[in-house]
Amino acid sequence: METTDIVRKLFDGVVPERASEIVSIANDYDAQFRLIGDREGFNLDAGGFSAIQYTSRSMRQMWLFGYAGRQALHCYSSSIVLLKSFGATLDINEINLIPDQAAEDEAFESILDAVKDLSTAFHEDDFEWPVAIPEPEKGRPSDSERAAVYDLTCIATAYVFLHELKHVIFSAEGNAPEDPKDEEYLCDQFAKDMMISKIDQYAASSGYPSEKVRMKRMMGIALASAFILFATGRNRLAGSATHPPIYGRWSATVQDVNLPEDNWFWLYFSSFALALLKYHSITIQPKIVKDYKLLCFDLIADLENGI
Ligand SMILES: [Zn+2]
Repeated sequence: METTDIVRKLFDGVVPERASEIVSIANDYDAQFRLIGDREGFNLDAGGFSAIQYTSRSMRQMWLFGYAGRQALHCYSSSIVLLKSFGATLDINEINLIPDQAAEDEAFESILDAVKDLSTAFHEDDFEWPVAIPEPEKGRPSDSERAAVYDLTCIATAYVFLHELKHVIFSAEGNAPEDPKDEEYLCDQFAKDMMISKIDQYAASSGYPSEKVRMKRMMGIALASAFILFATGRNRLAGSATHPPIYGRWSATVQDVNLPEDNWFWLYFSSFALALLKYHSITIQPKIVKDYKLLCFDLIADLENGI
């Protein structure tokens, strides 16, 4: 199968209501999705000549990282739910005292270590795949939790491809914003808009409740956003000449999300944010958990203040 056909299948699965539109935009700009030979690092970007290049190793890093999202829920979601039900204060030092918390945190770290090992291995095949994580070649797992990870990883991957597609469009039209940081925000916005703005039409034609579709799509986008933080590395979280700070991208991503404050999307993003902040030793201020949405915004503020 041609690489572009594989990506088309991804869009068909993830954002069926706009897959044809996305493919025709890609055709209009002669954008090619191209699987390139193995190399170190995370490689998925708009290269020259309208090519969006990626390696199999990068896809596998995102796959592993999907399991970090699941583990972040195992680490923190029950504590958050409990604290919210009492309107109590989340204090990371108290959470650290919970029996098994250290083991759960270690499991999270070991997945991130595995993503790093895969990224830096001399060759993709030198990497020893973690036994606890299903291999991507085996397809969508049959149990519901792992199937959800599969779906979220597909959504996150499609989001990253759409972000890169917008870079290709800017380059072809020669109208990229002067400040490359603004371009990054606009590429994020384009990708999110493609995945969110026609959900109601999809819901009407498919019969799926639109709120559930929105929740799942936003969870996939949260996974991609979390991956962007991880791939950026601790010392560049505050941004660079070409890239905005991660808290800025996270804020832009979660603002105007049309989901109730106790939707699981906010719980997922909050759990992931907590796990990543702790992983990077960023100070997590004690905070009352009124609802999951507020918690999510509070944690993004911790990210802003702690780097
Ligand atoms: Zn970009």
